[in-house]
Amino acid sequence: MTEEQIKKASQHFENLVREQLERVERMKSEPDWTDFSSLEKIIIGACSGDGIGPAITEAAIIVLKFLLDSQIKSGKVEIRRIDGLTIENRVKVMKAIPDDVLAELKACHTILKGPTTTPWKGNKYGWPNIESANVSMRRELDLFANVRPVRVPEKNIDWMFYRENTEGAYVLGSQGVDVSDDLAIDFKVITNQGSDRIIRAAFEYAKKNKINKVTVVTKANVVKKTDGKFLSVAEQVAKEYPEVEWDDWYIDIMTAKLIDPARQSSFKVITAPNLYGDIVTDEAAQIQGGLGTAGAANIGKIYSMFEAVHGSALKMVDDGRERFADPTSMIKATSMLLNHIGFSDQSVMLDKALDICSQYEKKMVVTGRDTGVTGEKMAEYIIETIKDPDLEKKWQSYQ
Ligand code: NAD
Repeated sequence: MTEEQIKKASQHFENLVREQLERVERMKSEPDWTDFSSLEKIIIGACSGDGIGPAITEAAIIVLKFLLDSQIKSGKVEIRRIDGLTIENRVKVMKAIPDDVLAELKACHTILKGPTTTPWKGNKYGWPNIESANVSMRRELDLFANVRPVRVPEKNIDWMFYRENTEGAYVLGSQGVDVSDDLAIDFKVITNQGSDRIIRAAFEYAKKNKINKVTVVTKANVVKKTDGKFLSVAEQVAKEYPEVEWDDWYIDIMTAKLIDPARQSSFKVITAPNLYGDIVTDEAAQIQGGLGTAGAANIGKIYSMFEAVHGSALKMVDDGRERFADPTSMIKATSMLLNHIGFSDQSVMLDKALDICSQYEKKMVVTGRDTGVTGEKMAEYIIETIKDPDLEKKWQSYQ
């Protein structure tokens, strides 16, 4: 141990504390939510991402263009391609998001984003260990709510997850310290403001949709300061929603109970700090039918970004299977985007077509291999289903 090492680590910690205190001040003066109905033109940025991203994003854009055909023609909506958010470009400038790409993203009102690769230590592609584009985008655009629906009608599962997106164990994920060769320390950050806005969003959703249950997930019995703060903010917020019941669970037992048939359907709206939210939503996506089926919304007051829950599935690309990747996740994300920017009719239609195509009728199935159809074919099947004048009748017949 040297005094020099301690001094260096302490200085690093001091810098982080200063940055985080500044962030708290910024949160205190947050603007209001974007009113999409008052915009002359809504600009949807479309980034294809890496790996299977381009294949599944193209499939989603085909569906989006079909549903917003008249709005695109009248100039009310523009779909703007943003090509620079690739691993090659990011590595070239050694940034999670290159500056010019960030400026392009900020010129859009909302973003549809394909999965992006985050290099990991010792990866076989030789990429340096740069920060995740997702984590950076959530922070830069202040997308604090990661909203993920999971539905399995035959098991009576209808979950809505509100995962905190800008704090917790991830926000300083690339800023830990190797104090010495033997000692590494990472940091976890939770604030009153960051917890309040995500927990409030979950309670608001429950209240608006007349859902009488919010579950708060932490590990506050062990991680006492940060998780303890999240839980105590929940207690305060819950008092303002007397019509909504709430309970709290620890992450370990929660992951078990999500697969317990006797318990799973009792969960409704679930909110959690970043890391726990990440874990339980992937588990929930698997219960729904695999990562390929789940979409996610990343919502802030100004910007929003919609994406698949899964990553760029590089192994599928290495095996030459990207054409067979399931685009349902990106198409589900597209439906959430439509709903967020005010096209709820189109969103409802798309949800019903997705239910019919991937849960009930299943005339075509994507398996991730040539044993199933390609993502493009799946998108065509979904569009044909939307076009069917009997869409509503057909959907009702399965209820
Ligand atoms: P992954 O989620 O990309 O894929 C894991 C496995 O899930 C794949 O090998 C594949 O078998 C299956 N899968 C995923 N999506 C599928 C789809 N649409 N259709 C069919 N099968 C699908 O996880 P990974 O391979 O560990 O990560 C690859 C890269 O993606 C990493 O760099 C990771 O950091 C990144 N990632 C990005 C995001 C994001 O952009 N939101 C999310 C998670 C991971």
